[in-house]
Parts: sequence; C-alpha cells; structure tokens
Amino acid sequence: MLPDIQRLIELQQIDREIQRLQDEVAALPRRVAEIESKLADTKAQVEKAKATIKADESNRRKLEIDIQALQQKITKYRDQSLDVKTNDQYKALMHEVNFAEQDIRIIEDKILEGMLDVEENEKRLKAAEAELKAETAEIEKEKAAARLRTAEDEAQLAEHNAKRNQLRSAVAADLLRHYDRVLKLRRTALAEARDHKCSACQVMLRPQMYNDVRTNEQILICDSCQRILYYLPPAEGEATPAPAAENHAQAPVAQ
Ligand SMILES: [Zn+2]
Repeated sequence: MLPDIQRLIELQQIDREIQRLQDEVAALPRRVAEIESKLADTKAQVEKAKATIKADESNRRKLEIDIQALQQKITKYRDQSLDVKTNDQYKALMHEVNFAEQDIRIIEDKILEGMLDVEENEKRLKAAEAELKAETAEIEKEKAAARLRTAEDEAQLAEHNAKRNQLRSAVAADLLRHYDRVLKLRRTALAEARDHKCSACQVMLRPQMYNDVRTNEQILICDSCQRILYYLPPAEGEATPAPAAENHAQAPVAQ
C-alpha cells in the first residue's frame, strides 16, 4: 500500500477521534450547568419557604398585639361601666365589649390558620433542604467527574494532535488538500473499494479502476463522491474484507 494512503487512513481515524473528544469536552460544562440550574431552583424553594414562614410569624405577632389592644379596650369599657349613670349607657358599653370580644375570636381564628400554614411550610422547607443537600453532594461529584474526564480527554487530544501533525507533514501537500476538502464536505475523505463499488457512495467502479485500486499503488479518486479509494484484502476465511484498524498492523516496520 502507498505510504500516503496508509497515513490518510490513520489520519481519518485520528480526525474522527479528535472530533469525538472535542464534542465530549464541550458537552461536559453543559451537563454541569444543567445540574447547577436545578440546584438554583431548589435553593429558591428553600428561600421562599423561609420567607413565607417569617412573614406568617410576623403576622401572628401583629395579630397578638391587636388582641392585647382589644383586651385593654374591654378592660377599659368594664371599668367605665362601673361608673355609668343610666341603663342605656351601660348597654352601650356592653355592646362595645361584645364587639371587641367578637373581633378577638376572629383574630384568634386567623392566628390558628397561620399556625397551620407555618406547619405546612416547615414541612416544605425540610423537604427542600434535604433535596438541596442531596443535590449539592451530587453536583460536587459530577463536577469532579467532569474535571477528571476533561483532563483525560485533553491529554488524549494532545496526543492525537501530535500524531495528526506528524501524519499530515508526511502526506503530499496536494493530496492533503484534497483530503481536507472532502472531509469537510462529506465527514469522511476515504472510502474502501469493495465488490467493485465505492463503499461510501455505492457507485460501481469501472473494471480497470477497480483493478488499479486493488493494487493500492496509486492514488485514485471516486468519480462520484471524490473520496480517496483504497482496498483491503479479505481476511483469511472471510468473504468480507478485514476492518481498517486490523490492517494497520501490516504497516511496514523499520528493522
Ligand atoms: Zn464514492
């Protein structure tokens, strides 16, 4: 096989792996951002429950002050009733006392309702706080995993890029330009010739061309898809050719 074809097959595998690693590195911060946004929602629920409880409690204190004021009024009316001269005056004062007592009962009902609300909100707060604790632990784990994976990916990317540069510098410039152009357009720049066809676009190759491709001794381009063609002889006992990765082992080794 022409060394340039061998190099391009390897280059295409490395280019694909680089793309996969770059996609993965880009996806990790998005995953962390998703969990962080969920965490922010739970934090908001905790704050809301706390604020509601605080408001209910402050409202209760206000209502208790209102009751005290009404009780003072009642005491005052009762004191006044001891000094009244007429029955009508006495009745009027007792009427006021009744009103004040009614108001107190209404306020006491409100206080009771408020206490039930506080109990409900305290349950909600407890649940939200437990969720927040679990999510905080989870995000720390996810972040640590993302950091580790990113570091691993980046180390691999550096290795692949070094190998990629090495391969590219060894391939003829015009062939490399063709490779880059087709790769950009079609995502793969090489195609195996198999069963008299280009295996990428499935167009039949002319018999002479197929025979030439089988030698792997010249650069041949598929007329239909422009991919660089190569041939892999079928593995022993197999009707189909061996995958490209296995063929690499056959690269010439310097003695
Ligand atoms: Zn083709």
